[in-house]
Amino acid sequence: APAGEGPDRFEFRETHMGSEFKLVVYCNDEALASRAARAAFDRVAGLDATLSDYKVDSELMRLSDRAGGPPVAVSDDLFEVLRRSRELSERTGGAFDVTINPVVKLWRRARRDGTLPPRDRLDEALSRVGWEKLVLDPGARTVRLTLEGMRLDVGGIAKGYASDAALAEVRRLGITRALVAGAGDVVAGDPPPGRDGWTVGIAPLDPARRPGRFLSLSNAAVSTSGDAERYVEIDGVRYSHIVDPRSGLGLTGRSSVTVVAPDGTTSDGLATALSVLGPDRGLALAEEAEGVEALIVSAAGDGDGDRTTVRATGGFGAMLGEGP
Ligand code: ADP
Repeated sequence: APAGEGPDRFEFRETHMGSEFKLVVYCNDEALASRAARAAFDRVAGLDATLSDYKVDSELMRLSDRAGGPPVAVSDDLFEVLRRSRELSERTGGAFDVTINPVVKLWRRARRDGTLPPRDRLDEALSRVGWEKLVLDPGARTVRLTLEGMRLDVGGIAKGYASDAALAEVRRLGITRALVAGAGDVVAGDPPPGRDGWTVGIAPLDPARRPGRFLSLSNAAVSTSGDAERYVEIDGVRYSHIVDPRSGLGLTGRSSVTVVAPDGTTSDGLATALSVLGPDRGLALAEEAEGVEALIVSAAGDGDGDRTTVRATGGFGAMLGEGP
């Protein structure tokens, strides 16, 4: 459309869940755009209060405190996040597991102290992990953690879920051309006017660099998981904040995993799961999943320098677009 015609672009940013959330909308009405932004960010803030594993009084924390006890009635959002999480555990053979928190806690401490968690502590923590021990009753909307000492951590799915929920708020107010980005989790609605999709840069392995690949995205989501920012290096080995639930160890092979999926909850969780599964099993799983494409960039050798291997699902290339 010629300049001055068609809808205007509005952009809003706020920090929630420890990350910057960005909202971009195209619409004719500035007041409506602002209202949509308020609704979207308030929704994310509400989810943070429910799902945080840092705030001791979040609903998620209070549920974990009751592990080993009878079923607990939970909010719709908490139930839905746990239902989707459990579904992802089943799909990924347990590579994605929100009961991983006892192990994640040991790695958080390792990151602070710079020392590896002792093996016996990891084994003790692992004995309290297992998605099969997370029992959901959809009729009663209750959740039961069947083992005392179990704890939940939805850090691998919460930002994707929150981005989906934020976009839903914007759509509810009648704006369809919108994009929400919660750090590395991007959820897109209809494309900008006159365009086929939103241009979304894929974060490279080296966070100091600019994206070299761009997706053209509409009515879909993309998430990138990697150890670019949060990791601990001990005795020359770099451990990611993503943990392999089988071994209890932080991932050591440096990689960046990008997953395109129908929604942000799925792309966020699958990005974590594919990081754990690695390129062979991860890409096989992505090939089979409906509406899912994935790209895995792995550092060759010690990860210094430029040597990387890049692998992707068959349909990934068709999703790439021009840079901005
Ligand atoms: P971020 O976007 O914060 O970098 P990711 O989406 O990659 O993080 O998820 C990493 C977070 O997920 C960790 O900080 C931890 O809370 C949690 N996590 C780590 N390993 C797993 C796992 N195997 N399954 C599910 N969640 C995990």
